[in-house]
Amino acid sequence: MESIGVLMTCPMNTYLEQELDKRFKLFRFWHFPQEQTFLKEHSATIRAVVGNASIGANANLIDALPSLEIVSSFSVGLDKVDLPKCKDKRIRVTNTPDVLTEDVADLAIGLMIATLRRLCESDRYVRGGLWKKKGDFKLTSKFSGKSVGIIGLGRIGLAIAKRAEAFDCPISYYSRSPKATSKSYKYYPTVVDLASNCEILVVACALTEETRHIINREVIDALGAEGVVINIGRGPHIDEAELVSALVEGRLGGAGLDVFENEPGVPEQLFELENVVLAPHVGSGTNETRKAMADLVIGNLEAHFLNKPLLTPVV
Ligand code: NAP
Repeated sequence: MESIGVLMTCPMNTYLEQELDKRFKLFRFWHFPQEQTFLKEHSATIRAVVGNASIGANANLIDALPSLEIVSSFSVGLDKVDLPKCKDKRIRVTNTPDVLTEDVADLAIGLMIATLRRLCESDRYVRGGLWKKKGDFKLTSKFSGKSVGIIGLGRIGLAIAKRAEAFDCPISYYSRSPKATSKSYKYYPTVVDLASNCEILVVACALTEETRHIINREVIDALGAEGVVINIGRGPHIDEAELVSALVEGRLGGAGLDVFENEPGVPEQLFELENVVLAPHVGSGTNETRKAMADLVIGNLEAHFLNKPLLTPVV
């Protein structure tokens, strides 16, 4: 397999790079600032693309690689891969489901607690010497027992629900259809209904044309001034300008955000707000999980080139 050309779109994981280097002829796209020159020279030899949640395989890249057979994504979300084009061209696509579910669900719960209990602000309070200077920290808001509404009760949404249940939180959800497996969770047929009936609204669905800006002004208003938004999905799920103005104007109680519309750009107005907790897209960012994701990417590539069934096929 050493002669098979594999194109990695951007830096994502050192272990993955090392393991790909051992098995394939690995091209690091970011080492070639002259993309067109690189493609002219090497496109015919590249049979696989490894992308991630930042840079996947768009139509231009797919069209520029005539020998492309498989896109193996170092992510579960495939919003950066042109799936219809891959289907058309019979290019296989794989992702990394399941292995990252627990980490992302853990982070969602962490963001809920950090936002309601103002953990980041309390940390700054102690470090800044304000405890000594000003005395006790202000009172915050309880997490246990708060009603949690989840948009997208898939692998991660369900894992968040299970965790929140352990905190006695009543769970409700919205997705395109009710789930037979979740009888104790209340289904709402619209996001506005869900937002009107919960205190913490979590985004855990896939990013598609339908779910872009699924959290808009109407949803934020329905959630209300005490409500909290948690986003561990993708930045474009939220109309960020609307979110920022609702937070600045006090029309929304708080937000815990792992993802943003223009990463790594984050609206600077959010930096001033103590009721907001910000994370740099680290939902799956533990050593254990990133290694498991890397192993899955490699396993899928090996299976493909050995004519074996793919481990986690999408297309
Ligand atoms: P999954 O099991 O496929 O679940 C996705 C859910 O989205 C499904 O339950 C689906 O429900 C729902 N959905 C799809 N279209 C919808 C629509 N139009 N309206 C409402 N719900 C819709 O995927 P997963 O493994 O849980 O991952 C979910 C997402 O989390 C990924 O796509 C990714 O964007 C994000 N993620 C983020 C991080 C991070 O680092 N922050 C890490 C991993 C994943 P229905 O089919 O019933 O509608």
